Amino acid sequence: MAKVMIKCPETGKLVFTGVFGDKTLLESMQIKKNKMARCAACGKEHLWQKEEAVLQD
Ligand SMILES: [Zn+2]
Repeated sequence: MAKVMIKCPETGKLVFTGVFGDKTLLESMQIKKNKMARCAACGKEHLWQKEEAVLQD
């Protein structure tokens, strides 16, 4: 399983969303907006969509 990362809108850094998955899981996701736990880069809470997710091993 890879870590699902997004780019933090505040800092531009890749941050872990707290979700583990793979391409298949991302593609099967029904929810458009996902709330992630406190961002490791800026400390805020972000909403993310599967379109902006990046998988990192
Ligand atoms: Zn952030």
